[in-house]
Amino acid sequence: MNHDFDATYDVVVVGSGASGMSCAVQAAKNGLTCAIIEKQDAIGGSSSFAEGHAAFESDEQIKRGIDVSKRLAFDTYMDYSHWRADAALVSRFVENAATTIVKLRDEEGVHYEGVEVTAVDQPGELVTWHLPEGEVARVLELMEADAVRRGIDIFLSTAATEILTDDSGKVVGLVAKDTDGQDVVLGAKAVVIGTGGYAANPEMIDKFTPYGIGDKMINVGGAGNTGDGINMVLAAGGTLHPSIGTLLLFAFMRDKTITSHTNNAGMQPYLWLDANGKRFNDEVIGMNFGNAGDVTAGLPGAFYWNIFDRTTVDHLVEDGNEIGIGIYVRNNERLVNLPTEIEADAEDPNRSNVVKADSIAELAVKMALPPDVVVAEVEAYNALCRAGEDTQFYKPAKFLREVSEPPFYALKMETGIMISMGALQIDEYMHCLDTDRKPIVGLYSVGCDAGGLFGESYSLPIPGSANGFAFTSGWLAADDIAESIQAGNL
Ligand SMILES: Cc1cc2nc3c(=O)[nH]c(=O)nc-3n(C[C@H](O)[C@H](O)[C@H](O)COP(=O)(O)OP(=O)(O)OC[C@H]3O[C@@H](n4cnc5c(N)ncnc54)[C@H](O)[C@@H]3O)c2cc1C
Repeated sequence: MNHDFDATYDVVVVGSGASGMSCAVQAAKNGLTCAIIEKQDAIGGSSSFAEGHAAFESDEQIKRGIDVSKRLAFDTYMDYSHWRADAALVSRFVENAATTIVKLRDEEGVHYEGVEVTAVDQPGELVTWHLPEGEVARVLELMEADAVRRGIDIFLSTAATEILTDDSGKVVGLVAKDTDGQDVVLGAKAVVIGTGGYAANPEMIDKFTPYGIGDKMINVGGAGNTGDGINMVLAAGGTLHPSIGTLLLFAFMRDKTITSHTNNAGMQPYLWLDANGKRFNDEVIGMNFGNAGDVTAGLPGAFYWNIFDRTTVDHLVEDGNEIGIGIYVRNNERLVNLPTEIEADAEDPNRSNVVKADSIAELAVKMALPPDVVVAEVEAYNALCRAGEDTQFYKPAKFLREVSEPPFYALKMETGIMISMGALQIDEYMHCLDTDRKPIVGLYSVGCDAGGLFGESYSLPIPGSANGFAFTSGWLAADDIAESIQAGNL
């Protein structure tokens, strides 16, 4: 079928997050003409919330004396995913992630302030989280300026709707809708899909995950992550990776910001009760906020209550928290806003997720739970705290804090979502594969739309994986496109 193109490029990239920007800039560096299609009115997507990205054996790690070998990273991805990750894709990412650091620093002007873990007490966490000055939002600003300098056309407020193929199934271009609702038809030798997954699409969450709470999940990421790219690739003959339902969830308080100290208090590994008023787990899972999110999503009602007393508020203010949330609230940060914020929350007539009382029984009534059950749970937990040993769920003793000094507080933590991962079946060159696992010529997927790096859960023990993969998969796709055009295959 012949198309009347409004413009033609070597490469059209859909999405301007880390994966899309990385691909487009590298394509231009490779001498290719390129356009970026972005449906929001600014570039960045969920990537603009990210703090850092993973790499292995990078010079930034080596100069700080941090030893995370590629072999250890590969083994950790494979083991953590129960070998459900695609070994060839994991290997290619692990091999090339350190080059991403060099490219961003030496070619885009990024300065790295440190390489860290996300949670100091998370067992076995690798030191891979490369933290750029100004976070990833600043990296993307630098890349946008570079893209403009290199003559890349950036179409904002323009949503891609359809991938165009010829009779043989080869990609020839793309249809998008501009701000006026008019179709823009672009010709391309290659189309790269980096639309960031489906975290902002409740129907897709319900379709692909077992939780059934799509409409209740609190999305803290980009509003544009509605799964468009995944659906477009499926319509063009692509296929899903088995890990399509993998999400990065975390426990989050409704109607709070990610920097809130009340919200952060709710994430701490103190006494967690479920919707029946029962303690249900070793709260140390909070040290891996992804694990905490997965557990929370599976609880009755998809929430837990975190219970503590006045002395714990004092502890959080004076000594600091046990776990932060990225750079938004740091690890061991003193929660100095907590006393004022939590009192205002408890008194707010429009808020039912922060309650305060002078007795546990009264607290339970405000939580709409049976007082006798909650009183018995708190007494049992206090006995473990006094004994200095958690013989129920084996939580480390340093997190056992008695709940005995009024006033008492209960914070309701629901299920937040940052991103979805693991959608499309690709190979290690980022080609989208069809149902016979053959590449669809000219079609690529990168970042959170691409499957294969994760198993059933996000790998927080390798912090920065999603963003590191987004940047790395982007430029790897651009290199493959350039080589394929050079070889006459596109
Ligand atoms: C609060 C928060 C903190 C995070 N911190 C980290 C971190 O420190 N480290 C880490 O590894 N990961 C982190 N992440 C995850 C991070 O967002 C992802 O790792 C990754 O950067 C996503 O990149 P992407 O390019 O795949 O998607 P995105 O950055 O979301 O980009 C996709 C873009 O595609 C656009 N788009 C969608 N549909 C269309 C369409 N039809 N047409 C045109 N454009 C479209 C979207 O609007 C969006 O701009 C964090 C996420 C959140 C929410």
